[in-house]
Amino acid sequence: MSAEVRLDGQVVIVTGAGNGIGRAHAVLLAERGARVVVNDLGGAVDGSGSSGAAQRVVDEIRAAGGVAVASTDSIATAAGGADLVARAVHEYGRIDAVIHNAGILRDSTLAKMREEDVTAVLDVHLAGAFHVLRPAWGQMAERGYGRIVLTSSSSGLFGNFGQANYGAAKAGLIGLMNVLALEGARRGILVNAIAPTAATRMTENLLGELTDRFDPRHVAAVATYLASGQCQLNRHILTVGGGRVGRIFVGVTPGWYGGVEPVSPDDIRASIDDICRLDDFIIPDSGADEVTLIQRALSGPAGPTV
Ligand code: NAD
Repeated sequence: MSAEVRLDGQVVIVTGAGNGIGRAHAVLLAERGARVVVNDLGGAVDGSGSSGAAQRVVDEIRAAGGVAVASTDSIATAAGGADLVARAVHEYGRIDAVIHNAGILRDSTLAKMREEDVTAVLDVHLAGAFHVLRPAWGQMAERGYGRIVLTSSSSGLFGNFGQANYGAAKAGLIGLMNVLALEGARRGILVNAIAPTAATRMTENLLGELTDRFDPRHVAAVATYLASGQCQLNRHILTVGGGRVGRIFVGVTPGWYGGVEPVSPDDIRASIDDICRLDDFIIPDSGADEVTLIQRALSGPAGPTV
């Protein structure tokens, strides 16, 4: 269908690669020539316990002729993230890409959510990204090359009942992507995110009759592309599930300009349809880009902005 995406000799860290989507990432990356650091604490879906999940995936990759090493560090701590990165550098001498995929669930409504359910989920998904990327960033910046793939979710981007902790963490990763993409661009580091849907233990009984179609390998194809040198995208969110791939984006409506004098709540009420009208939405390239858009509106007439 197209030129082959290869990562020969490249070193890729995949967090949470002992099961599900992360396992599929690791196996495909190795098939495409990458040397993979398979990180997994090996816990249950809620993060408790531990097992030999990472080593099993490494054994599978090696049996197929690939190159991989296991790390059982928990990326929920800064020390774990630092040890993981040190392991990658010690083993293979460099880091070309990081796919932060590790995740846990502690679902409940906000009314019933315990403090530990908030911190545990934020620690793995959001703080975990910092724990791995802070030490890995310098390695990449020094060599002027890097690819980062963060794992967001429709729960954070669009909302999902009973997942306030998880949704906030997953949306937080998009904020992280937006900033790192700007900071990394001048150092050859590109930062993108995926919002996957796949049949794993995390989605057991959730995907209905088409469950079998949601093979994690569909997700791995997208992550492997984003982790490769062939990918030139930056600051993009790709949604993938069951072979359907799309782009999710944050846009802003052209909006409405109330004039030089401060507007009243009554003006806002009267103009709310113009403010929210989606026609001709814009996708700013940065926060500064949106300021430019505002400045342009301020130099025009009051009313709906064009
Ligand atoms: P999974 O439970 O099969 O895999 C997650 C892995 O992360 C597990 O192997 C687990 O041991 C590991 N992990 C958890 N805490 C860790 C820690 N502190 N350090 C290292 N590893 C840790 O789930 P999955 O469905 O494959 O999910 C993978 C990622 O995709 C997660 O970030 C999840 O939130 C995200 N996601 C999945 C779906 C889906 O449809 N399956 C949808 C949206 C987002």
